Amino acid sequence: MAETTDHITPGGGTALAADPLAALLPDPQRLTEPQIRGRDCAWCAVTLGAGSAIDLGERSASHGAVARWFPRSCQSCARQHVYPAQLDHTQNCEQCTDDPTVCAHGTWLRLVLRQARR
Ligand SMILES: [Zn+2]
Ligand SMILES: [Zn+2]
Repeated sequence: MAETTDHITPGGGTALAADPLAALLPDPQRLTEPQIRGRDCAWCAVTLGAGSAIDLGERSASHGAVARWFPRSCQSCARQHVYPAQLDHTQNCEQCTDDPTVCAHGTWLRLVLRQARR
Protein backbone atom coordinates (compact mmCIF):
# COMPACT_ATOMS: atom_id res chain seq x y z
CA MET A 1 0.00 0.00 0.00
CA ALA A 2 2.95 2.32 0.56
CA GLU A 3 3.92 2.17 -3.06
CA THR A 4 3.38 5.43 -4.86
CA THR A 5 3.51 6.22 -8.50
CA ASP A 6 5.16 9.34 -9.79
CA HIS A 7 2.65 11.82 -11.00
CA ILE A 8 3.59 13.65 -14.14
CA THR A 9 2.09 17.10 -14.27
CA PRO A 10 1.51 18.14 -17.86
CA GLY A 11 3.09 21.46 -18.68
CA GLY A 12 5.01 21.48 -15.43
CA GLY A 13 2.03 22.82 -13.51
CA THR A 14 2.04 22.99 -9.75
CA ALA A 15 0.01 20.77 -7.48
CA LEU A 16 -2.39 23.68 -7.08
CA ALA A 17 -3.65 23.11 -10.59
CA ALA A 18 -5.25 19.88 -9.44
CA ASP A 19 -6.72 21.44 -6.32
CA PRO A 20 -10.49 21.17 -6.70
CA LEU A 21 -11.01 24.16 -4.47
CA ALA A 22 -8.83 26.41 -6.59
CA ALA A 23 -11.23 25.93 -9.46
CA LEU A 24 -14.27 26.42 -7.26
CA LEU A 25 -13.36 29.58 -5.44
CA PRO A 26 -13.62 33.04 -6.93
CA ASP A 27 -10.47 34.98 -7.70
CA PRO A 28 -9.43 36.63 -4.41
CA GLN A 29 -8.15 39.68 -6.29
CA ARG A 30 -11.73 40.54 -7.10
CA LEU A 31 -13.16 40.03 -3.63
CA THR A 32 -13.77 42.51 -0.86
CA GLU A 33 -11.65 42.80 2.24
CA PRO A 34 -14.20 41.03 4.49
CA GLN A 35 -14.42 38.17 1.99
CA ILE A 36 -10.66 37.78 1.98
CA ARG A 37 -10.61 37.74 5.76
CA GLY A 38 -13.43 35.21 5.93
CA ARG A 39 -15.96 37.51 7.51
CA ASP A 40 -18.23 37.40 4.49
CA CYS A 41 -19.05 34.40 2.32
CA ALA A 42 -16.49 34.06 -0.47
CA TRP A 43 -19.27 33.40 -2.99
CA CYS A 44 -22.34 35.45 -2.10
CA ALA A 45 -20.73 38.00 0.27
CA VAL A 46 -23.31 37.49 3.02
CA THR A 47 -21.92 38.35 6.45
CA LEU A 48 -21.22 35.14 8.31
CA GLY A 49 -22.40 34.75 11.85
CA ALA A 50 -20.51 32.69 14.38
CA GLY A 51 -21.37 29.04 13.97
CA SER A 52 -22.86 29.27 10.52
CA ALA A 53 -19.61 29.76 8.62
CA ILE A 54 -17.85 26.94 6.86
CA ASP A 55 -14.12 27.20 7.02
CA LEU A 56 -12.53 26.51 3.65
CA GLY A 57 -8.97 26.72 4.91
CA GLU A 58 -6.23 29.22 4.33
CA ARG A 59 -5.35 29.66 0.68
CA SER A 60 -2.46 31.32 -1.02
CA ALA A 61 -2.98 33.24 -4.22
CA SER A 62 -0.52 32.75 -7.02
CA HIS A 63 -0.66 36.31 -8.30
CA GLY A 64 -1.91 39.79 -7.55
CA ALA A 65 -2.03 41.95 -4.45
CA VAL A 66 -3.65 39.35 -2.20
CA ALA A 67 -1.03 36.81 -1.18
CA ARG A 68 -2.98 34.87 1.40
CA TRP A 69 -6.65 34.71 2.16
CA PHE A 70 -9.01 32.84 4.39
CA PRO A 71 -12.14 31.92 2.48
CA ARG A 72 -15.23 30.99 4.43
CA SER A 73 -18.63 30.21 3.11
CA CYS A 74 -22.27 30.19 4.14
CA GLN A 75 -24.11 26.88 4.35
CA SER A 76 -26.04 27.16 1.11
CA CYS A 77 -23.05 28.25 -0.98
CA ALA A 78 -20.97 25.38 0.35
CA ARG A 79 -23.66 22.89 -0.59
CA GLN A 80 -24.19 24.51 -3.96
CA HIS A 81 -20.51 24.66 -4.92
CA VAL A 82 -18.83 21.88 -3.03
CA TYR A 83 -21.39 19.09 -3.33
CA PRO A 84 -21.23 18.82 -7.16
CA ALA A 85 -17.45 19.14 -6.96
CA GLN A 86 -17.30 16.24 -4.54
CA LEU A 87 -19.51 14.08 -6.74
CA ASP A 88 -17.38 14.93 -9.73
CA HIS A 89 -14.17 14.32 -7.83
CA THR A 90 -15.09 10.93 -6.44
CA GLN A 91 -16.18 9.77 -9.87
CA ASN A 92 -12.95 10.84 -11.54
CA CYS A 93 -10.34 10.30 -8.86
CA GLU A 94 -8.55 6.96 -8.96
CA GLN A 95 -7.22 7.50 -5.49
CA CYS A 96 -10.70 7.96 -4.06
CA THR A 97 -11.92 4.84 -5.84
CA ASP A 98 -9.14 2.85 -4.21
CA ASP A 99 -9.08 4.45 -0.79
CA PRO A 100 -10.70 7.85 -0.16
CA THR A 101 -8.75 8.39 3.05
CA VAL A 102 -5.44 8.82 1.22
CA CYS A 103 -6.69 11.53 -1.12
CA ALA A 104 -6.10 15.01 0.32
CA HIS A 105 -8.58 16.67 -2.01
CA GLY A 106 -11.28 14.09 -1.40
CA THR A 107 -10.75 14.39 2.33
CA TRP A 108 -11.00 18.17 2.16
CA LEU A 109 -14.23 18.01 0.18
CA ARG A 110 -15.74 15.58 2.68
CA LEU A 111 -14.73 17.76 5.61
CA VAL A 112 -16.34 20.84 4.09
CA LEU A 113 -19.53 18.96 3.35
CA ARG A 114 -19.65 17.59 6.85
CA GLN A 115 -19.68 21.18 8.12
CA ALA A 116 -22.36 22.08 5.61
CA ARG A 117 -24.68 19.36 6.87
CA ARG A 118 -24.60 20.57 10.43
ZN1 LIG B 1 -22.79 32.30 0.45
ZN1 LIG C 1 -9.63 11.93 -4.67
